[in-house]
Parts: sequence; structure tokens; C-alpha cells
Amino acid sequence: MTQQIQHEVLPPINWPATLMFVLTGLAAVTLVPLYGLTFGISTGAWVVALVFLAANELSITAGYHRLWAHRTYSAHWTVRLFYMVFGSMAIQNTVFEWASGHRRHHINVDDVDLDPYSAKRGFWFSHMGWMVRKYPSGINDFANIKDLERDPMLNFQKRHYLKIAVGTNVLFSALAGWAIGDFWGTMMVAGVLRLVVSQHFTFFINSLAHMWGSRPYTDSNTARDNGVLAFVTFGEGYHNFHHYFAHDYRNGVRWWQWDPTKWLIAALGSVGLARNLKRVPHVQIQRAIIEMQFKRAEARLANAHMAVPALINVEEVRARLAHEYEAFKAALAEWTRVKDQWYESKKRALMQRIEVEENHFRAQLREIEYRLKVQRKRMRLLHAQLA
Ligand SMILES: [Zn+2]
Ligand SMILES: [Zn+2]
Repeated sequence: MTQQIQHEVLPPINWPATLMFVLTGLAAVTLVPLYGLTFGISTGAWVVALVFLAANELSITAGYHRLWAHRTYSAHWTVRLFYMVFGSMAIQNTVFEWASGHRRHHINVDDVDLDPYSAKRGFWFSHMGWMVRKYPSGINDFANIKDLERDPMLNFQKRHYLKIAVGTNVLFSALAGWAIGDFWGTMMVAGVLRLVVSQHFTFFINSLAHMWGSRPYTDSNTARDNGVLAFVTFGEGYHNFHHYFAHDYRNGVRWWQWDPTKWLIAALGSVGLARNLKRVPHVQIQRAIIEMQFKRAEARLANAHMAVPALINVEEVRARLAHEYEAFKAALAEWTRVKDQWYESKKRALMQRIEVEENHFRAQLREIEYRLKVQRKRMRLLHAQLA
């Protein structure tokens, strides 16, 4: 609360964003149900809405977020073009603005002055409040996206953003509606409702995913893992893992965790449309989980004598915990040692190969030098004959 008092003097309203949120939001809760109840909405229109929703969400999660903001892999230009077009259709700003703000969010997470959507400033602020006013924490500074500024496709998006964003929303919805024979029904659910729903699903990552869920990997920030949010955000709900290992292309790192974005990137990788998929080594993930388990166990032990005095022998558990921690440290040290040995052995093998290759080149050079020497002798003889 004290932190909010510092921000009491409200900055000016960002009118374009506010009007868009208010108008589309109002239409989604009044016009759309009214139309639906009066004229009915065809199944086809709902299918188109779901397809558009998936295309928009995946372009934001796999494109804007994991490809451009975090560079967790590289993608073929056709894939990037898809992300750029359907990401613009989600109306969440240009890749430049989205990725720049998001990189600041990761570096300054939870900082009330530097994190553009700090969850410490409350649900409303982190959900969409940060976009409806021109807060100092939200001022653009593209110094952190020099890599993206070299991309011609993203520069094209920046120059024509409004046209692409409005054009895709109107044109794609109208074309699909005309094709399936339910023009206005499609405009309602695939045009308006889909846009509002897709935006709020993404906004939940900045708000709810920093408030509701578990913290298996780190408690150094507010980010949470939440399976329910992961379901509606195409995998982005595993936000605790993501904040700790942001350079991994996966967010739901376990095989059973719902992360369609991860599956899409892996599938693109398997057909050659995505490359350099970055993964955190398994041992680092295990290490983070076990460290947190120890931290939690110690905190529980510290309170145990008050909570359940008769049920457990606190000293015995403490000794067992210390023993486990020793074993954990020993295993990590052993892992590092074996890994170093492996690295050394690989280096040696490489050196040996280089030596063999060096000898090969040296022999070739010597052979050429010998040929030149012989030629010089032949020339000398020739000169002698001519003299
Ligand atoms: Zn976050
Ligand atoms: Zn991120």
C-alpha cells in the first residue's frame, strides 16, 4: 500500500489504448451477446474465432515472447512473417515495444519504478492499468532491443503497424465470415470477442501469473507456476520456471505440462523451420527444485516446534535434512567434476585431430616446396644448355 501512495499523482491517460480497450470491451459484453441472442451465431463462426484466437495467442507466445523478446530459438522467415501478421492482429503493440518492455520486466521484475507491469503495484495495474496511462515506468527505451532493430521485417511492422493491426482484424474476419456464410456472426465472435479474450489471456500473465500459483524454482520474485493459466495462455502460465530460466524455449518444462507453444516450436524444429532451440541443462533445473525444497524444509522446521510439537522429532529431522544437503552438494560437485573431465577429454580429442590435420597440411606444403626445388634445378639446367 505504501508503494502505491508514491504513485498517487496519476500520469495522463493514454487515449488510443484506453479507447480501444473500452470500446472493444463494451462491445464484447453488450453487442456480441445481444446479437447472438437475437440472430444466433453459427458453429462456423465459433470455429473461425477459435482458429484466430490460437493464431493470435501463438504468435504472441512463440513469436513476440519466446522468439523475439528472449531469442530462445531462431525461425525461418515464413514463420516470422506469420508471427508478425497474426501478432499484429492481437493488437498488443509492435514487436519493438512489446519485447523492449518485456526485457525490462525480466531484468527489473517486481521493481515498482522500473518494471513496466510490476505485480507489486496490484492486480489492476499489472493486468492493464499500466497501458491506460503514460506511467514513467512504461516509457520506451529501445536501447535493449538493438538486435531486433536490425530486422527489416520488424522495421516494416513498426512503420505500418496501425494499417496491419486494423487491416488484419477487419479483413480476416470479414473474409472468413463471407466464406462461411455468416458475415455478422463471424464479425461478432471472431472479430470482437476473440480480440478481447486473446488480449486478457495474455494480460493474465503479467497479473495473475505473478500472484496465483506455486513457486517450485525460485521465490526471489513473484512469478508463479499455474496449470490453469497455462491452459488458457498456450503454456505461458508456467511463469515461475520462465522467470528463472528465461532463455529456455520451454515454459512448461515437464513433458506432461500443458505448453502448446513449446510443442509448436519443437514441431517447427523437427521440420527445419526453427533452429537453435535453447534448453537449460537438466541438472540446473533439478538443482533449482532441490534448493527450493531445502529452503522450504528449513522454514518449516524453524516453525515446527510451535505447530506440531508432539508429532515430530525436530532435532532428528534437522539432522536428516543436513545429511541430505551434504549429499546434494556432493552430487553437484561430482556432476561438475565429471562434466569437466568430459570437456577436457573432448578438448584433447580435438587437439589430437588438429595435430593430425596439421601434419597432413605440413606434408602437403613440404611436397609442394620440394616440387619447386626440383623445378628450380630443372630451370638451372635449362639455362646452362642455353648459355
Ligand atoms: Zn513476468
Ligand atoms: Zn518472458
